[in-house]
Amino acid sequence: MKQAPPLSRAPAPLPRRDFLKGCAGGLGALLLPPALAADTAAAGARERTPARIVIVGAGAAGLTCASLLARRLEGARITLVDARQAHYYQPGYTLVAGGIKPAGYPVSTTREHVPAGVEWVAEAAAEIDPEARHVTTRAGRILPYDFLIVACGLELDYAAIDGMDEARIGQDGLGSIYHSPEKASATWALLSRFADTGGVGVFLRPGTEMKCAGAPLKYAFITDDHLRRRGLRGKAELIYNANNKVLFSVPIVSEKVRMLFEDRGIEVHYDRILTAIDPGRRIATFSTPDGPAQLGYDFINVIPPMRAPGLVRQSPLPWREGPYAADGWIQVDPHSLRHVRYPEIFAVGDVAGVPKGKTAASVKWQAPVAVDHLVAALRGTESPLSYDGYTSCPLITRLGRAMLVEFDYRNNLVPSFPGVVAPLEELWVTWVMKTMALKPTYISMLHGHV
Ligand SMILES: Cc1cc2nc3c(=O)[nH]c(=O)nc-3n(C[C@H](O)[C@H](O)[C@H](O)COP(=O)(O)OP(=O)(O)OC[C@H]3O[C@@H](n4cnc5c(N)ncnc54)[C@H](O)[C@@H]3O)c2cc1C
Repeated sequence: MKQAPPLSRAPAPLPRRDFLKGCAGGLGALLLPPALAADTAAAGARERTPARIVIVGAGAAGLTCASLLARRLEGARITLVDARQAHYYQPGYTLVAGGIKPAGYPVSTTREHVPAGVEWVAEAAAEIDPEARHVTTRAGRILPYDFLIVACGLELDYAAIDGMDEARIGQDGLGSIYHSPEKASATWALLSRFADTGGVGVFLRPGTEMKCAGAPLKYAFITDDHLRRRGLRGKAELIYNANNKVLFSVPIVSEKVRMLFEDRGIEVHYDRILTAIDPGRRIATFSTPDGPAQLGYDFINVIPPMRAPGLVRQSPLPWREGPYAADGWIQVDPHSLRHVRYPEIFAVGDVAGVPKGKTAASVKWQAPVAVDHLVAALRGTESPLSYDGYTSCPLITRLGRAMLVEFDYRNNLVPSFPGVVAPLEELWVTWVMKTMALKPTYISMLHGHV
C-alpha cells in the first residue's frame, strides 16, 4: 500500500463533559457542537491514500466511522454496504413506546447521512472472506478491501422464543419496544389501554448480551408512572423478570434500581428467562433454576435474545471461546476495536465482542478510536487512543425524571459532571437530555461531530 506523507497529530476525542455540556446546555448549544473546532482543525490535514475501505452496516457505528474517515482521508475509496433505506434512531423507540414521542420520531433516511465522497452500496452483505479480503453482497458483487470495518449491529432473535409471532406485536397485550418504530408505536397503544384498565404487566430482559440494558427497566418505570397518573396503579401488578441475580450489571446501579422498584411496588423475579409465549392465552413461560414457571399477563414487553448477525456468525470473525463465542460477537481487542486475528479488520458498535458498550453512547467513543487506529495503520504508525468501555444510559425512572448512569469496562461510575449531574439521582435535567438533546447530538455524531 502506498505510504502517505505524515499527518499532523489526529485530534484526540473531546472530553466527555464537552459533549454532554451540549446536551445539558439546551438546544442552542447543540446547534454548534463543541467538536466543531477539532473537526475544522483536522480538515486541513487529510491523509492521502489510495486505500480501499469497506464498512459493512450503515447504522450508528457505520455512518459515524464513514464520516470520520471521509474527513481524515483523501483519495481513499470508502464504501458503505447496507440495504436499509431508512435510518432508525433506536434510543427513540423507548420514547415512542412510552407515549412521549410520535411514531415517526426515530425515522430518517440512510441517504441523508451518507457523507460526501463515500459510496453507498444499497445491498446487504452476504459473506465476509477475511483471507481473500473481500465482502460479497447478496447480489453477488465482490468488494475487495484493504481495511474493513464491521458495523452491522445485532440480530433480534424472536424465533428463539417458542410461540412468539412478531406479526402479533400490538395485539392481545403483546408488546415489544425493540422491534421497530411501528411496533414501538403499537406497544404504546397497548400500554395506554393497560393504563386505563390495570391488570398484570410483565417485563423482562433476555439472557444474552443486549443493546441498551437500561431500556427494559425504563419501560417498567414508565408503565408504573402512566398507571399512577391515571389513578389506576392500585389495580395493576407489575412484575420485572431479571435474567440473573441482578437488575443491572453495575452493582451500585442495580441496588439503586432495586430500591426504586421496591418504592414503586414493582415486584422482581430473579433468574428468569422467557422461553415461550402463548399470545392467544396470554401466558409467558420462563426458565428458572426450579424448572419452568408460567405467568399470565394482560400486558407484556417482550425483549428477545440478541446475537451477532448471521453474516458474522457464519464468518471466521467471532470469538472461538469464552463468553462471546456462543452468540458470535467479533473477537476484537477491547481497547482498539481491532480484530485479534485479522489486523486489517475492526468491529465497532453492537457487533463488537467487548465486555460493555452496546449503546449509541459507546459508538461515540468507539468510532474515533477505531478510526484513529485504522489511519495510523495506513501511515505505518501506532495510535495512542484507547477505548475504556465508556457507555451511558439515561435511565428514565418516571415521566419528567431520569438518572444519567455512565460507566466503563471496570464498572466504575464515570460521571461527566461530578457534583453537578449526580449519577444516581432522578433529575429533570437528565430527562431533558434524554427526551430533547440526545437525538440532535446522535445525528450530529453520524455526521462525524464526535
Ligand atoms: C429500544 C432501544 C433503546 C435504546 N436506548 C438507547 C439509549 O438510551 N442510549 C444509547 O446510547 N443507546 C440506546 N440504544 C442502543 C443503540 O441504538 C445501539 O447500540 C446502536 O444503534 C448501535 O449501533 P450499530 O451501528 O452497532 O447498530 P445499528 O445502529 O443497529 O446499525 C446496524 C446496521 O447494520 C445493517 N446491517 C445488518 N446486517 C447487515 C448486512 N448483512 N449487510 C449490510 N448491513 C447490515 C443494518 O441494516 C443497520 O443499518 C437503544 C436501542 C434500542 C433498540
